[in-house]
Amino acid sequence: MYNLAVFGNPIEHSLSPAIHAQFAQQLAIQASYIKILAPINNFAQAAQQFIDSGGDGFNITVPFKIDAYKLATELTLNAKMAGAVNTIKVTDSQLIGENTDGLGLVNDLTQNLGLSLKDKKILILGAGGATQGIILPLLQQQPSRLMIANRTASKAEKLANDFSKYGPAYGFGLDKIKSDPVDIIINATSASLDKKMPNIAPGCAEHAICYDLMYGEQTPFMNWARDNHALMIADGLGMLVEQAAHSFEFWTEKRPDTQAVIKNLRG
Ligand code: NAP
Repeated sequence: MYNLAVFGNPIEHSLSPAIHAQFAQQLAIQASYIKILAPINNFAQAAQQFIDSGGDGFNITVPFKIDAYKLATELTLNAKMAGAVNTIKVTDSQLIGENTDGLGLVNDLTQNLGLSLKDKKILILGAGGATQGIILPLLQQQPSRLMIANRTASKAEKLANDFSKYGPAYGFGLDKIKSDPVDIIINATSASLDKKMPNIAPGCAEHAICYDLMYGEQTPFMNWARDNHALMIADGLGMLVEQAAHSFEFWTEKRPDTQAVIKNLRG
């Protein structure tokens, strides 16, 4: 029996328990996966209580991914470079921290949407926590350029610099985006949460694949992509399920089938 959980605040609307219940059922694995609302200023104590009660592993969502990074006693390269942890595996001697967000995005793009990222020009909008988690797995797919554009240009420049040893990463302000088409645009800003679309040159969307990390509704970015002749438009639900699958595999060493779960969630 695996004792699993997800920590967040808020946590009520998390889809993770439903996703992990489907994975466990598919693979005939006995698992309990609960939601835990941790106090904003006391994630570490809540996590320790769960570990002491026999917890085998847990996910961490907003706003505790950096606290989880600090709590982990060992980090994967993904987690180290992301500066954040969304998955912890409890072993006898260690709390192993992993970040599965970027792996989830890459799997959704390559396996569910059937895209190759090799030699592609990729533009990421935003330079927050989500962007930091997806850069390394994207660079590992060998794009020709990975451009990071952010409202606060200095944050994008810093990220590009931090990751430059892993591949061709470039950082600049949103206002420097050219009107030239790119192959893939990933919206990793939180503007969609405020029902806003960053004001950027529309020409970059022409025949591009436009992917919003947000899921659950048609976002202003998705509307913008449609109005500017994008080739394909996707939301982040596939990424959510894929990152969960990586977490599940990290804990159990068994790989669930994600397609059926994505289909179920889309209803
Ligand atoms: P974050 O760390 O708070 O970063 C927010 C980013 O958005 C910053 O780069 C910020 O720019 C930019 N931004 C916010 N409002 C903007 C606006 N009106 N115009 C232009 N830029 C704006 O957030 P995060 O954790 O990276 O999350 C970003 C998004 O990814 C959220 O929608 C989240 O739900 C989604 N997400 C989805 C998944 C999934 O599994 N599908 C996983 C993780 C995250 P400044 O730096 O200039 O403030």
